[in-house]
Amino acid sequence: MSCVLIVEDDPGLLRALSINLRVRGYEVQAVGDGTSALVRAGRVLPEVVVLDLGLPDMDGVEVIRGLRGWCNAPIIVLSARDAQADKVGALDAGADDYVTKPFGMDELLARIRAALRRAAPAPDEPVVVTASFTVDLAAGRVTARGGEVRLTPTEWHLLEVLARNVGKLVDRRRLLREVWGPAYETETNYLRVYLAQLRRKLEPDPSRPRHLLTEPGLGYRLEP
Ligand code: CA
Repeated sequence: MSCVLIVEDDPGLLRALSINLRVRGYEVQAVGDGTSALVRAGRVLPEVVVLDLGLPDMDGVEVIRGLRGWCNAPIIVLSARDAQADKVGALDAGADDYVTKPFGMDELLARIRAALRRAAPAPDEPVVVTASFTVDLAAGRVTARGGEVRLTPTEWHLLEVLARNVGKLVDRRRLLREVWGPAYETETNYLRVYLAQLRRKLEPDPSRPRHLLTEPGLGYRLEP
């Protein structure tokens, strides 16, 4: 689960951001000023920081400088100010991206996903080995008990997304979007059907899955 640190002094916006990120499976740390942001970041080591530039105790750019001394997490800056100088200042200080208020939640979520993708190290080994089966992402095949397991293209695509995020929760919307497309984000029954098929093909005991796990209400996770 990726940890997002949100730094925003508008309590309504802070709450809206927190709720939207939590339902999508992010762990959220929320603070309302720059001092708390620096303290909290040192404690939780966030994977991405969403930072309002106009804070009550210090300029957001100072927070960026404070973080950049030791923290490589992508920083996405939020600001009502549309001035070119502010953007340049924030980016020069080490911010990675910039969203001008008011913004759509979907846009910010897309920026967060993109930031996390860029920050994620490429997997060294494109083969994911579990105790029961092996997923070769480069070759596009899965083997179990010494033989290749035949999967439909949809089953493979679903397994591939989970394997690329092995050990991590992949939220339902993201799975639906990546496997079926953006128009299918709410078709959670597809996931139940296809996960059941994958479990029948791959799990030693499909009724008690050890690898293809459901996180109720959130999504799915491949456990090695
Ligand atoms: Ca503000």
